[in-house]
Amino acid sequence: MTPSKTGSSDDPVDVLLENARDGASSDGFRVTGVMMQYYFVCERELWFLSRDVQIDRSNANIVRGTQVDEKSFERKKRSYSVDGTISIDMLDDGKVVEVKPSSKLKKASEMQLLYYLWYLKHVVGEEREGVLAHPTEKDREDVELTKEAEAEVEEAIRGIYDVVNMEEPPPAEEKPFCDSCAYHDFCWISMER
Ligand code: SF4
Repeated sequence: MTPSKTGSSDDPVDVLLENARDGASSDGFRVTGVMMQYYFVCERELWFLSRDVQIDRSNANIVRGTQVDEKSFERKKRSYSVDGTISIDMLDDGKVVEVKPSSKLKKASEMQLLYYLWYLKHVVGEEREGVLAHPTEKDREDVELTKEAEAEVEEAIRGIYDVVNMEEPPPAEEKPFCDSCAYHDFCWISMER
């Protein structure tokens, strides 16, 4: 997943779009929904992900925000994979839904969903609305890809490009959710004996 610059423009947004439309090579720059989410959670976590640092994700303690009781939606939504880059769930009314267990990482979840809407618009040619849902909190809100939101997504794509091209991971900065992060031991447990 290590990225490389390709295409006629140096702007990472253009590089991403060119790769997506022409069929990205395996080492071409692309941004998954999880990458967009991690960018807003922790840039160091994003860097580890970009280097395919694998962690045992079956450990319930390290799975943050990926497991949720989706019973309230499971009969109403269908899942689609687009280019192998984004995986979206669509409701019967055509809205793209992102279901999260809690609203603690709301900004990151919102940006992940906005990125899906942006990708659908610019790569697939489909303009959709989104729904961000937290069933356990009985919370559900509509998310729209406004011009401002598009600009924010594109700024984030440029930021992601910068992070994943760093030679070394950004320094660890303690965050409230470090304890439940897959890479906790890399950041906070010394390898020295
Ligand atoms: S443990 Fe904390 S600092 Fe380290 S990658 Fe995870 S969230 Fe980032």
